[in-house]
Amino acid sequence: MKFLCVACDEAMKLVEAADTPHGDSLTVIFRCARCEHRVALLTNPQETQLVHSLGVAIGGRTTPPQPLARVRATLNAASPLWTEEAERRLQRVPEFVRPMVRDNIERHARERGCREVTCEVMDEARSGMGM
Ligand SMILES: [Zn+2]
Repeated sequence: MKFLCVACDEAMKLVEAADTPHGDSLTVIFRCARCEHRVALLTNPQETQLVHSLGVAIGGRTTPPQPLARVRATLNAASPLWTEEAERRLQRVPEFVRPMVRDNIERHARERGCREVTCEVMDEARSGMGM
């Protein structure tokens, strides 16, 4: 999923993706790198579920869709800590998909009961093992 700046005919970059406080909506902000034009996407609860199930597919990578209850349950849990090595690896992911990748890996860690995101957890999340 991408937005194109019509004026520049250029793919816009993902600036921010954040859940609203109630968790029912999601705001996703895209920016055109050439003309700085911004668009924001605000989703309703059904669309929020859709975007979450798309997950990192926004960046071209795919992840299996997840049931709503599971997403709800994991959204509220505290974020796990990242080891230095795992964080360094995350920094190599293209910037525009990084928030989505981080979110997906943290969700995976929480589902596995991991309090720390290590390279092993990243590998697992990527291969989809245990999901
Ligand atoms: Zn533009």
